Amino acid sequence: MAVALLGIGVSKGTAIGRARIIQHGQVEVLEYALPARLIDDEIARFRAAMEAAKQQLRSIRERVPAGTPQDIASFIDTHLLMLEDHTLSAGTEEIIRTRQCNAEWALKLQKDAVVRVFESMDDPYLSSRRDDVEHAVSRVLHILLDQDRHQHLEAGGEEGHIILADELSPAELVLLHHQNIAGFVTERGGAVSHTAILARSLAIPAAVGVPRPDLGVHEDEMVVLDGAQGVLLAGLGEADLAYYRRRQQAERRHRNELRKLRDLPAVTRDGVTIDLHANVELPEDVAAMRRAGATGVGLFRTEFLFMNRSTAPDEEEQFDVYRQMLRKTRGGALTIRTLDLGADKPVGLFSEFAGPNPALGLRGVRLCLKEADLFTPQLRAILRASAFGPVRVLVPMLTNLAEVQQVLQLVDETKQALAREGQRFDAKLPVGAMIEVPAAALCADSFAARLDFFSIGTNDLIQYTLATDRMDEEVNHLYDPLHPAVLQLIQRTLRAGARARVPVGMCGEMAGDTRYTRLLLGLGLREFSMPPSAILEVKRVIMQSDIGELHRHVRRLLRCTDPEQLAQHLDQLNT
Ligand code: PEP
Ligand code: MG
Repeated sequence: MAVALLGIGVSKGTAIGRARIIQHGQVEVLEYALPARLIDDEIARFRAAMEAAKQQLRSIRERVPAGTPQDIASFIDTHLLMLEDHTLSAGTEEIIRTRQCNAEWALKLQKDAVVRVFESMDDPYLSSRRDDVEHAVSRVLHILLDQDRHQHLEAGGEEGHIILADELSPAELVLLHHQNIAGFVTERGGAVSHTAILARSLAIPAAVGVPRPDLGVHEDEMVVLDGAQGVLLAGLGEADLAYYRRRQQAERRHRNELRKLRDLPAVTRDGVTIDLHANVELPEDVAAMRRAGATGVGLFRTEFLFMNRSTAPDEEEQFDVYRQMLRKTRGGALTIRTLDLGADKPVGLFSEFAGPNPALGLRGVRLCLKEADLFTPQLRAILRASAFGPVRVLVPMLTNLAEVQQVLQLVDETKQALAREGQRFDAKLPVGAMIEVPAAALCADSFAARLDFFSIGTNDLIQYTLATDRMDEEVNHLYDPLHPAVLQLIQRTLRAGARARVPVGMCGEMAGDTRYTRLLLGLGLREFSMPPSAILEVKRVIMQSDIGELHRHVRRLLRCTDPEQLAQHLDQLNT
């Protein structure tokens, strides 16, 4: 019988593949006593499970392609080291013998003891390692309990795997991407969570908010994911599967058609040229940006350089990445955003800064201004890279002018230090602000007097304006880009930029959604930055639009406060 699980589509496309279920929830472990004669067998069973877990990790590591810049392998190495640690294995075996209990229970007790030691450490980095212990041990427990579903993906045939998970972090998605997954659905997560953004960037069909995605679906059965509608289908017959395969072919044909627009300029019918830039998550995405015909990188999220590793990349490593990216952008601008760690971009390395409410806490530039060891190497690397091509630096989460001044002063000091060392850099490196906090949008005039450009970050701007967590599927219905308050803040920012002759772009997900392209054109936006996979669709809409005609509709739409009427105006604008 066919089963349909409904969620929120966050990355469009049809995926067909075998279901792989990943539940991060704690496995339930019970104690049971063993007769003395079975103890040696139990220890042998434990050793075999440890060996199998290590083997899994090695095999995952081998599948991470050589040259992956974020040193992803080190994340896996950390887990391997945990499993190779003598304390864990010897301690567990000792408990099996002395308590005469099952291996699962002994391992759990030993893990708890190790976690307690980590937690009691003063060093915040070491105390944050407890998650690694939990993850590594949970892999062994799954094997012992014969519930081995843990990212252990064998080749899934031609069609690959569709992951069904309770949740996926961006870091996990990067790993799964290297294992060639066809798509994924998760129970938790919002449409603008980082994992969803990454899925769009990597063009992996995905849905979030799918209730218990494993219910009604069996491990390894053929499933179909419609990433646009957010529907996962299981139990389909051959005829249905054939229908979805035809649909995949039609999608391929559509993409090929769009590719014909690649080298055409993005000009409206009335002759206005629009800049189309790409948001880049991983340095290797620069290739996708070029395939989509983007004229530059409007947002490089440097957080991904810090994920899945046990130490932060130093100045030299960051400089190398930026310089290599510049080579690949071939003269296009490279907008490097300084670290925006925290909230929806958790990074194990700095988890001690999370605070009680990470979205309102020490995230983005706030963390950088507090931790000079983090910020200075990044500013130095960006400035040094600017000697090799057109670089812009973009600062996230700026909220007040004091922060703006502090950043500008640090940039100046860094320039002076580099000049003393005889290092080359662009003395006029443009410094810009993400406008993603309502306070920044409301004070855009004073920000514009000090900065060289703006980039509107609608993902956070909407979250903070509407007090709606972008990660929480329960409030997804309140996350509304068309809310009049959001539109007014966007308009205000664009006007402030125009008055001060400061270019204003948009790099939030709204810029890559064709439903809003005409509205944004009518509001005055001329620089759009989005995932490479969205660029050609948006270009097509731009080429079919006449900005002169849009103004009248947009003015009417902005006066409207009733959500239904507003949606009608938008429909009119888009037809
Ligand atoms: C935004 O907030 O719109 C944005 C582009 O930044 P991020 O999604 O990385 O927070
Ligand atoms: Mg943001």
